[in-house]
Amino acid sequence: MTEPSFIPFHRPEIGEEEIDEVVGTLRSGWLTTGVRTEQFQNEFQSYIGARHVLALNSGTAALHLALAGLQIGPGDEVITTPLTFCATVNVILHVGATPVLADIQPNGNIDPQSIADRITAQTRAIIPVHFAGAPCDMDAIWSVARKHELFVVEDAAHAAGTHYRGHHVGADCFPSDATAFSFYATKNITTGEGGMIVSKQDDLALRIKILALHGISKDAWNRYREEGSWYYEVLENGFKYNLTDIQSAIGIHQLRKLERYVQERTRFAEIYSQELCDLPELELPSPVKDGRHSWHLYVVRLNLEMLTISRGQFIEELRKRKIGASVHFIPIPLHPFFKEWVHLAHNQCPVALQMYPRLISLPLYPSMSDEELRRVIIAVREVVEKFSKHRYLPVGPSSTVDNAISSEGANAL
Ligand SMILES: *Cc1c(COP(=O)(O)O)cnc(C)c1O
Repeated sequence: MTEPSFIPFHRPEIGEEEIDEVVGTLRSGWLTTGVRTEQFQNEFQSYIGARHVLALNSGTAALHLALAGLQIGPGDEVITTPLTFCATVNVILHVGATPVLADIQPNGNIDPQSIADRITAQTRAIIPVHFAGAPCDMDAIWSVARKHELFVVEDAAHAAGTHYRGHHVGADCFPSDATAFSFYATKNITTGEGGMIVSKQDDLALRIKILALHGISKDAWNRYREEGSWYYEVLENGFKYNLTDIQSAIGIHQLRKLERYVQERTRFAEIYSQELCDLPELELPSPVKDGRHSWHLYVVRLNLEMLTISRGQFIEELRKRKIGASVHFIPIPLHPFFKEWVHLAHNQCPVALQMYPRLISLPLYPSMSDEELRRVIIAVREVVEKFSKHRYLPVGPSSTVDNAISSEGANAL
C-alpha cells in the first residue's frame, strides 16, 4: 500500500479551458490588457450586477485605487478590522491616511458598534472585510456611514460569490462606493495574481481608470483626436496596476465555474460541520442569516481550556497526519510594522486578540476529493481526542458504534 499523500491547505483548480485560453492568448500576439481583459470585465460586471468594473493586477491594487480615487490622504482616518490580511491596512498608509482598528464580532467580521465608537471628525471611510466569505452586517455599516457621511470600500477578497440580502457583494443596488475583489492563487477564483475594482460612482470609476495606468488619459482631450492614436497626456501621478490578457484568460474560465465552486465549498463546509459538531473542544463557523456564505475559508476556533495543546501544536499534529492547515489572520496589532500606532486606545481590539490563539483554517477547496475531506475529518477528530482533557472512546466520524455508548463515552470526564 502506498503512503497517503499530503493534503495541502490549498490547491487551485485549473482546467483545460484555462490552459487553452492562455495558450490562445500567447499565440494571439497580444499579451497585455486587451480583448480578453475586456471580456473578463464584461462577464464579471454582469455576474455581480455591478455598474463599473476594472480588472487590476491585485486585490491590494483595487483597495489602494479605491482610496486614492476617493482622494483620501494625510489627516484622514480610515476604519477597518484587525482580523484581515496586512494589505487592507497597508493601502491606508500608502495614501498617507491613518488606519483605525474597530474590534470584531464573534463570527470574525467587523463590529458595527465598534466602528461607531471609533468615529472622529477626521474619519473619512470604512473598509469592512467579508471574513472567510461571510457577508458583514452591511446594513448597520451603511447606516453608520450615512450618519457620518463616510465612504464605504468593501474588501471582498474572500467574497467572490458571497451574497448579501439576495444580491452579490459589490452589486449596484448597494450604497458602498467601491468593492475590491482578489484573484490571488488561494482565493475563490484565481488569475494567479489579480483583482477587480467595482464601483457605482461614475466619477470615481473614471479617476480609478486613469490612476490605474500612470495617470494617463487618452480620451479626455480633444488633442487626442487632432494628433492621432500615438498621443496621450499624463493628468495625475498614477500607478501601473493593469491586468494582462494572459491573466484574464484564466479569469474568464474561473469566473464561469464560480457558482459550481461555491456549491462545492458549501457542501464540504456542511460535511465538516456535520462530522465535527459533536466535539465540544471545537467551535465551528455558523451559517449566515442574511446572505450566502461563499465558504472561502472554514475557520475552526479551538476551545483551548478543553485541550492540553496549543493551536500551534494542533496544526503540527495535523501536519504529522499529512494535513496542511493555516491561520487567518495574525491580527494587525501583532505585526511589528504596525506597532507604532496600534497601542493607541482607539486601536484596542480585545475580541480579535483573544480569538487569535484559537484560530485554525482547515483545507476547503473545490479540487479536494471527498476522500481527502474524510481524511481531514478523521485527523481533526484524532487530534482532538488524543489531546482532549476529556477522555474519549475511539469513535470515528462514520463509526457504527452504538450511539448510546459513544455519546456516553464522549461525555465521560
Ligand atoms: C488576499 C487578500 C487581500 C489582497 O489581495 P491580493 O490580490 O493578494 O493583493 C486583501 N485583503 C484580504 C482580506 C485578503 O485575504
